Formats: sequence, structure tokens, C-alpha cells
Amino acid sequence: MQDSYNRTIRYLRLSVTDLCNYRCRYCMAEEGIPKRAHGDILSIEELAEIGAAAVRCGVTKIRLTGGEPLVRRGVLTLCEKLRALDELRELTVTTNGSLLKNAAIDLKKSGVDRLNISIDSLSPSKFRDISRLGELDDVLRGLDAAKAAGFARTKLNVVLLGGVNDDEITDFVTLTREEDYCVRFIELMPMGVCAAFPRERFLSADAVLAAVPSLQPIGGDGVAELYRVPGYRGTVGLIRPMSRCFCAECDRIRVTADGKLKPCLHSSAELPLRGLHGIDLENAIRQGASIKPSRHHLAQGSDTPRGMYEIGG
Ligand code: SAM
Ligand code: SF4
Repeated sequence: MQDSYNRTIRYLRLSVTDLCNYRCRYCMAEEGIPKRAHGDILSIEELAEIGAAAVRCGVTKIRLTGGEPLVRRGVLTLCEKLRALDELRELTVTTNGSLLKNAAIDLKKSGVDRLNISIDSLSPSKFRDISRLGELDDVLRGLDAAKAAGFARTKLNVVLLGGVNDDEITDFVTLTREEDYCVRFIELMPMGVCAAFPRERFLSADAVLAAVPSLQPIGGDGVAELYRVPGYRGTVGLIRPMSRCFCAECDRIRVTADGKLKPCLHSSAELPLRGLHGIDLENAIRQGASIKPSRHHLAQGSDTPRGMYEIGG
């Protein structure tokens, strides 16, 4: 599936819920979040049908996201249905890790290939403060459970928050010494609640290179620049939506939990997919891919009215 700028679209990020058991300060307001009616959210069958249609259109990688995907009932059934698609090369899940301790084995059995686990601090009190409702220990146990279940090359997502967690950059990099993790530092994007954050929270990923000068470039992985400390087992990724626009390499489309195809994370354009089946669904997905904008304009702010939890990242 090609877009109108000759990019090949192979990657679908499918949001299975907009609910979350955390309230990360940069992602969700503490309270007053409007709750969509159950019937407004795609059923597991609809999610599977959209995934299958996207694969028929040429998608080879699907990531389940949210909100928190592991709070969604039926997510394992969805994984099994997607895993059964012959042309799907990779099925991954992005999770806050809080429920992974009890879910890792089942996710593995259901055919999930790899996990991205978000972890914004290694300090229990700071972790609690950032996530508002999370406990670091749950995530650390989740990481161990993922390893025991056979997940390898797990990606750890760290959103860089200037003045909050940048003093922990070296601690995060040290996690890659003995384990095959890829610790990925992600620049904070001004959308939803964090659009009003003070300037100093938005830190360039250059801060990682400054904090750990021994990092050596080893290439790229999708939109991430990859580095390694010589001799370390794992890798470090920098994802720089703010300091280096990677839109020219973007191969993604997104579907929100309420069934809207988003050609671009930061555009307000959305195409409703609900109620479409078979070739009509495929045509809508192709049309969505074809109207991907050439790039975002994040320097002026995101155009999407949605918060990240309503899209999936
Ligand atoms: N709840 C799951 C989690 O936190 O991993 C999946 C959904 S979450 C929206 C996906 C990713 O987006 C997380 O790694 C989160 O830290 C990141 N994220 C959320 N808001 C962001 C923002 N404004 N800028 C950059 N990353 C953000
Ligand atoms: Fe929930 Fe993930 Fe958003 Fe945190 S970043 S509030 S865990 S959706």
C-alpha cells in the first residue's frame, strides 16, 4: 500500500481501548476524562476484521496499543485471531507493564512476538508521581515475567521529561549492560494535556548523548536512531519527533479504539471504518493511507484534538 508521497505503508497501530489504569501526567488529566460508551468502542471481532483487512492491504506489522491494552477484556483472543493471519510478520503490544506479571505467558501463547513496556522512572516515588496510579515494582515484576515467558529484545519506552527524569538517563542506559533490552528515549510531543507544559519539559534526545558519551551509533530501527555502549548486550534508541522530523520514513497508519483511521498521529484527519466490511473496508484503509500528509508541523503544535491515550502513540 503506497501513499501519495511514495511511502510504503506496512505498519498498523491498533488501539484496543482508550481506558487506562494509570493517569500519566503528560498523557491524561487526573480526572474528568469523558468515558466513551461501551458500544462506541470497537468489539474484538471488529478489531480483528480491521486487522485482517489491513493485512490484505499490505500491512505486515500490527501493534496493539491503547489506553492500556491489557485492561481490555478479550485482548488475548484478538492476539490469537491476528496471529492466524498468514501475511502478518510481527505482532507486538505496547503496555505500561502494570498487569504484565500475570499476562506475559498468555500473551506469548497468544502469538505476541515482542513487547514495548513504558517505564518513565526507576525511582519508585518518581514513578508514582509521573504515572499518578502506578507502582514501579509491578512493572519490574512484569519485565521479569516477560523474560521468563520468552520475550526477547523487549523495548523499554522512556519519555524524556526535562527536569523530571533526565537525571536518570545513565541509570536507564545501564539497564542495557546485562540485558538485551532496547531502551528507547522518546521526545515529549506537545499534545493533549502536555501541550501546556513549561518549555523545559521538552528535552531534545541530544541530552542522552550528552549524558552518556560512550554511546556509539549502530544504525536505525524504524524511526529510532540506535546506539550501543561498547560491550553492552542491549541497545539504546532515540526517537526524535521534535528535533529530527522522521515523517519521510513513516510507514504507519493508526486506528483508534472508536474505529477511526488516522493517517497521521498529528493530523486531525480521520476516516470512520465502523460498519465497513470486505472490499469496502479495504478501500477505506487504502484511502486513509493515500491521504497521509507529507509531515507534521509539531513546532506549531499538534493538529489532532485527541490526547495520546485516545490514539495509542
Ligand atoms: N498505555 C500504554 C503505555 O503507556 O505503554 C500504551 C499507550 S501509550 C499512549 C503509548 C506510548 O506513548 C507510551 O510509551 C507513552 O509514554 C507515550 N506517550 C504518551 N504521551 C506522549 C507524548 N505526549 N509524547 C511522547 N510520548 C507519549
Ligand atoms: Fe495510560 Fe499509557 Fe497514557 Fe500512561 S502513557 S496514561 S499508561 S495510556
